[in-house]
Amino acid sequence: MEKIIKSYTLHNYRTLPQINSLSDEMIRDIEVVGRVLPFKTNNYVIEELIDWNNIESDPIFTLNFPRKEMLEKKHYYMIEKLLNNDAEKTIIDAKVQQIRLSLNPNPAGQEHNVPYLGEIKLKGIQHKYPETVLFFPSQGQTCHAYCTFCFRWPQFSGMSGLKFAMKETDLLLKYLRIHKEVTDILFTGGDPMVISASVLRSYIEPLLQPEFNHIHSIRIGTKSLTYWPYRFLSDKDSDDIFRLFDSIIAAGKNLSIQAHFNHPVELSTDAVKQAISRIRTTGAQIRTQSPLLKHINDRPELWAQMWRKQVDLGCIPYYMFVARDTGSRHYFELPLDKCWQIFRRAYRQVSGLCRTVRGPSMSDHPGKIQILGVQEIKGEKVFVLRFLQGRDPKWVDIPFFAEYNPKATWFDQLKPAFGEEKFFFEENRSKLTRTKPFLFE
Ligand SMILES: *Cc1c(COP(=O)(O)O)cnc(C)c1O
Ligand code: SF4
Repeated sequence: MEKIIKSYTLHNYRTLPQINSLSDEMIRDIEVVGRVLPFKTNNYVIEELIDWNNIESDPIFTLNFPRKEMLEKKHYYMIEKLLNNDAEKTIIDAKVQQIRLSLNPNPAGQEHNVPYLGEIKLKGIQHKYPETVLFFPSQGQTCHAYCTFCFRWPQFSGMSGLKFAMKETDLLLKYLRIHKEVTDILFTGGDPMVISASVLRSYIEPLLQPEFNHIHSIRIGTKSLTYWPYRFLSDKDSDDIFRLFDSIIAAGKNLSIQAHFNHPVELSTDAVKQAISRIRTTGAQIRTQSPLLKHINDRPELWAQMWRKQVDLGCIPYYMFVARDTGSRHYFELPLDKCWQIFRRAYRQVSGLCRTVRGPSMSDHPGKIQILGVQEIKGEKVFVLRFLQGRDPKWVDIPFFAEYNPKATWFDQLKPAFGEEKFFFEENRSKLTRTKPFLFE
């Protein structure tokens, strides 16, 4: 099985024969919305994932192609007007930049997770939870295609000031040498699997030396199994990728591919099945995660199907996330109550082997907050929540309560239940920042 990647963006997507099945309005919407949200797709997505007979509601089309409703009306009409008037590029660019900045490009205070090494700010690293360091290799700040809902979009729409990227593995290694509490390093992006095998090796190989024995797991967060499974099959350095995976495992480390799948269709092609199977032959694990997205996967049956397929293929369901409060959130977001309903209706119909999944979870400033459910306690309807991960690990796994709010879509809209003034962890926050300035900036 062989395929050469061909990418499509605003500049060349009109050359696709499939575009003939779109109405003039849909093309207009791509032109307008695609100025603000990053738009990129490729020949695999076009030929093997999208159902072109069902474009109005096709989830994979929605995943890659801008639709009108993804922009707020006022923003849509602003850009449309500029385009209609043939406005100068600099004027359009300025407006686009202004709109993007209004879309919360850096949600959940990710800036606060960037650590220091002495005086040097380590822009390519985020270290929020003691055991896991996130590393953003600079060559990996793009993807084989772009998700319309993605909260990392500032990184690849030319907003360089916000770019979390770092060339020097050197600084990463220095940081890890003095942080023996770190057991996991997560390569993330963008998508680190866009990086060539040789460059990826230059990042990873030093970590296999005995001085980094405290690093037990190397994780790679990627959507390439969905967007370009040929990365693991027929790219010119695919074999080298597997030699790298082999050497990670030979060094005694756990290799975990954190695969991003949003819909069962993404698990249905021969290419993805072969790619998964080849990864599994190395002894690497594949764990799966996805946000819950209106218009893409907001039905319990889809999740149950997705988790079952993943387990069939030897993958381990890991996280279901609540859609982030960024970008086109108004299009994709669902009330927290609804998220929990979808989760539990899916969870209850699958075997325990699928129930390794945890969620729905919000990654917010204080941590990963799971919605355990809605309950009535002494006459008050509440959300029951807990930290799966906490900025302070002591918070983890303690159930806590928020006033029930049927409309809330994110943690910042919740209030403590029972008339309390603060959540139990809030008074600790300033103390934590003082005692651990190094980790949390
Ligand atoms: C989710 C996350 C991690 C990894 O958490 P696990 O529960 O161990 O997968 C690490 N750092 C940040 C900032 C995260 O959001
Ligand atoms: S693959 Fe991941 S980083 Fe890339 S656009 Fe999609 S969600 Fe964002």
